Amino acid sequence: MDNTVTKKNLIGLDRGELKTYLAEHDIPAYRVQQLWNWLYHHGVTSFDRMVNMPKPVRQILEDTFVIERPKIAMALTSTDGTQKWLLRFADGQEAETVHIPEVDRGTLCVSSQIGCTLTCKFCHTGTQTLVRNLDPAEIVGQMMVARDVFNEWPSPVGQRHVSNIVMMGMGEPLYNFENVSKALTIIMDHQGISLSKRRITLSTSGVVPLMQRCGDELGVNLAVSLHAARNDIRDILVPINKKYPIDQLIEACRNYPGVNNSRRITFEYVMLKDVNDSDADARELLRLIRGIPAKINLIPFNPWPGSSFECSTPARIASFSDIVYRAGYASPVRTPRGRDILAACGQLKSESQRKRKSAVI
Ligand code: SAH
Ligand code: SF4
Repeated sequence: MDNTVTKKNLIGLDRGELKTYLAEHDIPAYRVQQLWNWLYHHGVTSFDRMVNMPKPVRQILEDTFVIERPKIAMALTSTDGTQKWLLRFADGQEAETVHIPEVDRGTLCVSSQIGCTLTCKFCHTGTQTLVRNLDPAEIVGQMMVARDVFNEWPSPVGQRHVSNIVMMGMGEPLYNFENVSKALTIIMDHQGISLSKRRITLSTSGVVPLMQRCGDELGVNLAVSLHAARNDIRDILVPINKKYPIDQLIEACRNYPGVNNSRRITFEYVMLKDVNDSDADARELLRLIRGIPAKINLIPFNPWPGSSFECSTPARIASFSDIVYRAGYASPVRTPRGRDILAACGQLKSESQRKRKSAVI
């Protein structure tokens, strides 16, 4: 067995933890800042590069810790430039991360869990039962791998290939809140990767009790996977609705910290043919969100092997979008990206299974 697996990974630890670990080896607290800078501003992967640390300190670090990222097990590039990486973690489990290049930005779609406990009917990830939560190192690691791919170290001040993050990959981020919060705090740290909270959007299927904390503690943009404006339909499409029905969800959106006209809630709405896409559905949606600073992101349904829904017709989507737009809301129709490599919304899934006797080493 590779002996590095027994060493502690420095990635994903907060400053307080780093201080404690360094202290155990008599390394003074002021080294934390230097270490942080090497790890997250310069993105180094070896202790040799830390030239402002004396050799003996570097040696202790080398003997005790590793700087480890997930490994790229498979990389696919779509005809539209979207890239999808299947990442393998230290225990052999895998999850997917997607990079979507656009003219003015590059968005990284980050996973929070391997699989998902929820079973939204139209979502591929929902067919993969939860294997486990990702830890902070594995979440920050997705960002770091992307930055490695684009050779984007040290953290650039201007234009970046990875300029935005959406927590919209595999899993429900608010069901792994502690780890997601720790990871995003590291990513937002001004002395490291330094991505602004305004460039981070967390998407939830509606874990109402954690929405307030998400806004208070992280202050990131919120996207809500609404998908239906009536409980009878949403109960079926997004089963967590039975636990936290629409009125509770909308109330939590109304109270989301920091929401105003320049920081709007995004409501995601997947367009499913003859399920939730009528003009009456659009009007119901408007009634529901009245008074909330919001934009509606219409997502054409992305099919996946075995899915039973159909995408609404372009004409239907246009009519729906028009009603929403006329009511004064931005209602962009999300252009599917990376469909050919199963990288679009709701298409992510990995082969990882819950560990069984003979399974993953
Ligand atoms: N679990 C979180 C984060 C995943 S975000 C959440 O559900 O919000 C992924 C977004 O894509 C969600 O809005 C999800 O509802 C949507 N989605 C899932 N399957 C889809 C599909 N097949 N086509 C289009 N969008 C889909
Ligand atoms: Fe999980 Fe989100 Fe997919 Fe629902 S849409 S199954 S919450 S990943």
